[in-house]
Amino acid sequence: MLSGRAPRVNGERLWSRLMAMAKIGATAQGGCNRQALTDADWEGRALLASWAHAAGCTTRVDSVGNLFVHRPGREDTLPVVMTGSHLDTQPTGGKFDGVYGVIAGLEVIDSLKDLEITTEHPIEVVVWCNEEGCRFPQPMMGSAVWAGRTPLESAYALADPAGKSVRQELERLDVPTGAPVLRQSVKAALEVHIEQGPVLERCRKTIGIVTGVQHMSRHELIIEGQEAHAGPTPMEMRRDPIRVLAELLPAFYAAAHKRAPDARLTIGIIETSPGSPNTVPGRLRVIVDLRHPLVVEYRSLREEIDRLVAESLQRQGLKGSIRCVWEAPGVEFDAECIAAVRQAAAALQLNAMDIVSGAGHDSVNVAAVAPTTMIFVPCAGGLSHNEAESALPSDLEAGANMLLHAVMALAGAAA
Ligand SMILES: [Zn+2]
Repeated sequence: MLSGRAPRVNGERLWSRLMAMAKIGATAQGGCNRQALTDADWEGRALLASWAHAAGCTTRVDSVGNLFVHRPGREDTLPVVMTGSHLDTQPTGGKFDGVYGVIAGLEVIDSLKDLEITTEHPIEVVVWCNEEGCRFPQPMMGSAVWAGRTPLESAYALADPAGKSVRQELERLDVPTGAPVLRQSVKAALEVHIEQGPVLERCRKTIGIVTGVQHMSRHELIIEGQEAHAGPTPMEMRRDPIRVLAELLPAFYAAAHKRAPDARLTIGIIETSPGSPNTVPGRLRVIVDLRHPLVVEYRSLREEIDRLVAESLQRQGLKGSIRCVWEAPGVEFDAECIAAVRQAAAALQLNAMDIVSGAGHDSVNVAAVAPTTMIFVPCAGGLSHNEAESALPSDLEAGANMLLHAVMALAGAAA
């Protein structure tokens, strides 16, 4: 154990680096435009690499453009403890989304150096290529290739609106292409990120201990009725699909409520056809969006929704169906990584709460192949993917201190 005051990062250095990075691709509205594989993206990476080299680290870029900063461990062949995020932004992005996770990772390395602390395992700070997926249309591209979830050739073939491919842009930026992306073995992976939602701020918490990313899916409900005149047709003689909907709505909300507070049920689309005020609809189409962080609850919610639909159709004697039209599997993060984060919050006496990510992150891909978790800090008004995105220096410093402690525990630190 380390004696004396718990180690801390240098909050001023963290903030000044965030502000220095924000100058690259700065927009008039105070945001950033540093889209993947542009000159600005590469300028940002060069700045990061200069800081990494000054801290005694080596850097390498793989053939899909992921950048790794390596700080040797006492046993440098052991699996790495990985941290990082992305430096690319939306066209009208903010200063913190992704960037914070990368610069906080480097801050951990610089702080360990300042404190003369070595670790048993090597530490790597990763900059994933094309997380945003706005210029080249696949979010979390680099981490998906690294994790073996997307073939390298399909990533290379992605093209921007001007027709330039990922492969062409990598070659333009002097990244050797073609070699297989080799995945180093990873003991644990941690990503710090702004929350991009309002929960931490509303609950007045400094730290979100991210236990997972929601499972999510969309379902199309179709109910067939019979078009009929709204005046002469007696109620009991109608084949009205809205009767089914009238039964389903309270039952759907009850099903979500049974799984409160984590279940999410959203009915964003209700369409009747022909859509006339004095005609009983001949057809009803409803889109239901379902989300839950726990796979068991998520599945049981989906089953209950399906069953409610079948029962109501039968009761009303109408034909119809519900089918899943889109699904994004969620992630439950690694228990040991989460425990390391909890201990860090306790050691630093920070105000923390468990939270589930509503957005996708590179960590979802990393979690498929390595023990992984994330740490969130609040952002003002929950605003992100916006030039006005903002976060408090004190919260950003607290998140980096969390990362320092968790990395030290997982990498085996010794002063
Ligand atoms: Zn991000």
